Amino acid sequence: MAISLEDRFAGSLLGLALGDALGAKHEGGPLEQAAWWLMGIGKGELLRWTDDTQMAIALAESLITRRGLDPDHLARLWAERADWERGYGTGARKLLRMIRDGADWREANRAIFPDGSFGNGAAMRAAPLGLFFHTDLAALARAAELASSITHAHPLGIEGGVLIARATAMALAGPLDLDLLARDSSSDEYRSRLTTASGWGEEPTPPAIVRRALGAWVEAHESAVTAVYLARRFDGSFQEMVKFAIRLGGDTDTIAAMAGGILGARHGAGFLPGEFLARIEAREEIERLARDLFRASSRTAC
Ligand SMILES: [Mg+2]
Repeated sequence: MAISLEDRFAGSLLGLALGDALGAKHEGGPLEQAAWWLMGIGKGELLRWTDDTQMAIALAESLITRRGLDPDHLARLWAERADWERGYGTGARKLLRMIRDGADWREANRAIFPDGSFGNGAAMRAAPLGLFFHTDLAALARAAELASSITHAHPLGIEGGVLIARATAMALAGPLDLDLLARDSSSDEYRSRLTTASGWGEEPTPPAIVRRALGAWVEAHESAVTAVYLARRFDGSFQEMVKFAIRLGGDTDTIAAMAGGILGARHGAGFLPGEFLARIEAREEIERLARDLFRASSRTAC
């Protein structure tokens, strides 16, 4: 049965939340714990997501409310909604506090990091941009640059957001084309990694090599390409993608969240593992949000 576009929107937001929640249990944790968890021994427990999903939800809400990207509205919403218990980094916390206290994001984003942050915080929440702007790739790139720069003003931080938004939009239409994404890259850090990943083709490249060549860390260029690669390699299984992200280690929740958002966009909510989906925090709210985002996006495209 054909998967509707609306279902792909839901799959993307739920896939992001699920990757985030499953990965968060293992950020930097031992491999045995990973295997244990994925075998489902922790059944019955609510799967709680982290800052990645919290910011993606607020981004989707802002896109719906403002019928597009309104950076001032979005910056305020992120600042108001931030729950520090959800794993926000030190820099993000300071920056969002400044905005909450009334600072303009255009100043706050340079106050903590003078050259702008190149952490993966812009990429981790970018899926809603790919969904909303999927019919207009030029508008998508502009919106992703702007939304990224609110908190991540460094070109590498911005490019991470643009890449994940592009890959999410691409997944709505078909398989990921890493060469096309490489061609559209603005920097060698991204282009060379995407080219390396593309060159691996169908090879089952081991985690140590993926980690060394693409990265698994909190820097945007050391994790966004990794997530895109995982989404292409594990196109047939969400669980295998999460398992591999856990084996990679490093910034597990964000890498699994980015790859999860892309895989969900490609295959819809029905592709996601039911036993985990049943336990994801705020599932109904996320599904409703995805429907609203779909409607808002369709209206804007007309
Ligand atoms: Mg997180």
